[in-house]
Amino acid sequence: MPGVDVAVIGGGIVGCATAAFLAEGGASVLLAEREAIAAGASGRNSGVVQHPFDAALVDLYEESLEHYRTLGRGFTLPEDPVGLLLVSEEPTPAPDEFPELKPAFVGGAELRALEPALAEGLVAWRLETGRPVPPAAAAKAFALRAHEAGATLQVGQAAHPVVEGGRATGVTIDGAHHAAGAVVLAAGPWTPVESISPLWGVVVEVELPHPPRHTIEESGIDALTEGASGTLFSIVTAQGLSSVGSTFLTEKPDAQDWIPRILERAKRFVPALGEAKPRGLRACARPLSHDGRPLLGPIGIENLAIASGHGPWGVSLGPASARLVADGLLGLDVELPPELAASRV
Ligand SMILES: Cc1cc2nc3c(=O)[nH]c(=O)nc-3n(C[C@H](O)[C@H](O)[C@H](O)COP(=O)(O)OP(=O)(O)OC[C@H]3O[C@@H](n4cnc5c(N)ncnc54)[C@H](O)[C@@H]3O)c2cc1C
Repeated sequence: MPGVDVAVIGGGIVGCATAAFLAEGGASVLLAEREAIAAGASGRNSGVVQHPFDAALVDLYEESLEHYRTLGRGFTLPEDPVGLLLVSEEPTPAPDEFPELKPAFVGGAELRALEPALAEGLVAWRLETGRPVPPAAAAKAFALRAHEAGATLQVGQAAHPVVEGGRATGVTIDGAHHAAGAVVLAAGPWTPVESISPLWGVVVEVELPHPPRHTIEESGIDALTEGASGTLFSIVTAQGLSSVGSTFLTEKPDAQDWIPRILERAKRFVPALGEAKPRGLRACARPLSHDGRPLLGPIGIENLAIASGHGPWGVSLGPASARLVADGLLGLDVELPPELAASRV
C-alpha cells in the first residue's frame, strides 16, 4: 500500500523533533498536528532550558543542549546559563545532588546585590543552570527542519492511530486512512495511553522595566509534580518578556481567573510584579507520566511507538528523547534506558 514510512501524531517539541530526525535519517514522514505547530505546552511554556534534577534524565538534558546549539532556524540557545534562584522565606535543604550546578546559598544583602528584583527577607539557592528561550521557538525550528528534510506537515485536523491485527498500519485524518509503516504517538497530554495525564499550567506574560537577571522559582516543585494541586511562583525572562507562573492543576483552569492569584503570589517574591500589567496569558497542560519520566519507544503493539510524558521538562529534554525514538524506528542501534522505556508501564 502506498504510504509513508512513519506517521507522527502531534506537532509539539517532541513530535516536531522526532519528525525532523526521522526525515533527516532518510524516512518518509507525515507529521499530523490537529491545531497548529506548538499549539500545546510547547508553545505556551515558561521558556527555560534547565537541568531536570533527576539523574535518570541528565543524559537527555545534556544531549538536548547539543541539539539546541546547532538548531538555528530562528532558535538561539544562550551560550551561558543565567542561573536559577530557588527562593523561599525559610532556608531549605541544600540541592546538592548535582555538584556540577555549583549550589550556593545566598541571603540578606548578598542576595539583594545578586538579584535586585527580589523582595527583602528571602533566601535562595543559586544553581548554575537555566537558559531562557522564547516558548515556541524550538518546536517551530524543528518543524521547519522536518519540512526541509522532506517531511509532510499536515496541520488542522486530528489524527488517530489505526491498529489492525495487533499492529499499527497508519493513521486516520478526517476519516481518511493514511498508511504508514510505523506510528509515533507524540500528542503530549492527549497521547492515548492511560499512564499519561494532564497537569495544567497558567503563565502570565508581563514586561518589567527591570526584569530579574536570573530565572527564579519558588522551592517546592517536587510536591506539585507528584500529584498535589497548587501554584508555585516562577519567572523567566527571554527577549525582554517575563513569563510569570505557574499553576499545577489536574483540571483545566479558567486562565483569566488565575491572573490576579498568580500575580498576588508573585509580588511576595518580586515586588515589581504587583504593578505589572499582563501583556499575555497562556494556559496549557504538561504531559505527566505515572512516574514523572518520559515514556519512549515501543509500547507492546507492533509498529507503534510513543514519545511523551515529559511533564515539566519537555523543552529541556524533548530533542534527545525524539532522537532516541527516531533512531529506534530507523533501525539504528539504540540503547533505550529502562527507566525511560515506554514498555515499563
Ligand atoms: C506552564 C508550563 C510551563 C512549562 N515550562 C517549561 C520550561 O520552562 N522548560 C521545560 O523544559 N518545560 C516546560 N514545560 C513543559 C513542556 O512545555 C512540555 O513538557 C512539552 O512542551 C511537551 O511537549 P510535547 O511535544 O510532548 O507535547 P505538546 O507541546 O502538548 O504537543 C502535543 C501536540 O499534539 C497535538 N495533538 C493532540 N492530539 C492530537 C491528535 N489527535 N492529532 C494531531 N495532533 C494532536 C496538540 O495540538 C499539540 O500541539 C512547561 C509546561 C507548562 C504547562
